[in-house]
Amino acid sequence: MPVITETAIRELAAFRSSGSPVVSCYLDVDGRRQVRPQDYEHRLDALFRDLTGSEELVASRADLDVISNYVRGGFDRSGVRGLAMFSCVEKQFWQVLALPVPVSNQVALNHAPAVEPLEQLVHELEPLGILLVDKQRARMFVFQFGELIERAELFEALPRDYDTRDEASRGAREREQHHTDELVAQHLRHSVEVAFRHFQERGFAHLSVGGTDDVYAATVASLHPYLRERLTARIALGVGATDKEICASALEIEHRLELEKEARLVGRLRDSIGTHSKGVAGLVDTITAINERRVATLLVSQGFAESGWRCPACGSLARKGPNCAVDGVGMTHHDDIVHEIVDTALRTGCAIEVCVASADLDVLGRIGALLRY
Ligand SMILES: [Zn+2]
Repeated sequence: MPVITETAIRELAAFRSSGSPVVSCYLDVDGRRQVRPQDYEHRLDALFRDLTGSEELVASRADLDVISNYVRGGFDRSGVRGLAMFSCVEKQFWQVLALPVPVSNQVALNHAPAVEPLEQLVHELEPLGILLVDKQRARMFVFQFGELIERAELFEALPRDYDTRDEASRGAREREQHHTDELVAQHLRHSVEVAFRHFQERGFAHLSVGGTDDVYAATVASLHPYLRERLTARIALGVGATDKEICASALEIEHRLELEKEARLVGRLRDSIGTHSKGVAGLVDTITAINERRVATLLVSQGFAESGWRCPACGSLARKGPNCAVDGVGMTHHDDIVHEIVDTALRTGCAIEVCVASADLDVLGRIGALLRY
């Protein structure tokens, strides 16, 4: 799975077609809300149907087929919550990015790939840094959604001959011990510098450090303040850990951080509702807030679905139909209004948190929002 980076987006954006347009298609395939592939396949068909009548469409029919075949071809859904697909058959151009976050469904025909949604997304990514240290080695890893995106190694050998030499005096041993301590301290300073350099390049949101007790304490103590405030629970691995162990631990840490974030957001929602400030819960109030463009962060329980209505004229959502409260136009019935809410939220730049097993959010009506005002 290609990793989304600024560089990858720039490369994608640099492609130009002077002939037939590039078809860019974003599809929400989030398994937390769309359990069956048919759910997103139908949405893809609906997206393409909306294109009917556009003149460019004739030239792009083959591109739509490529996209449709890919979506129906049973791609690996593990960890994938959104797809970004770009096709220009005429130029033999085909790119697909599997996204670890959901995206708003959309299709665009243009002379270049439409990358704005990716740009938005890359700023939301929160890479995880892992630093494993001992007295002469340091290994730095940066993970993003369970994938290793960067690594670095540092080795600063300690003198080996100190232990084996026939020592003349206790004084010499003490001097040597002192020298070793200094070398170790210097190595740990270098190690945290490596971590800081990666932080400057990647801006990871969290750092986990692994090492023996004394090395761990000394490393954490010499971390740059920016890194110390991003320090998360210690990783139970040393520098000798295998890549497989490190990847597994990274996934575990990311999972725990995600649950913590969910709990924090739901806690904020509960508090804001308790104090009647900048928070709403339940389907009806959340729909109102979405319609009024007041949502900063939308919270939804995994698998929550309800029917509702959308106005084809003004785009307003409603729990009850059939006529739009804003303009009186007859609305369209949707089996899953929650999907429409999430889609509108994505389209209007809201943050979205799909909560996996939050009893607290379920009690609040399985949906809610932290408001901008
Ligand atoms: Zn309306």
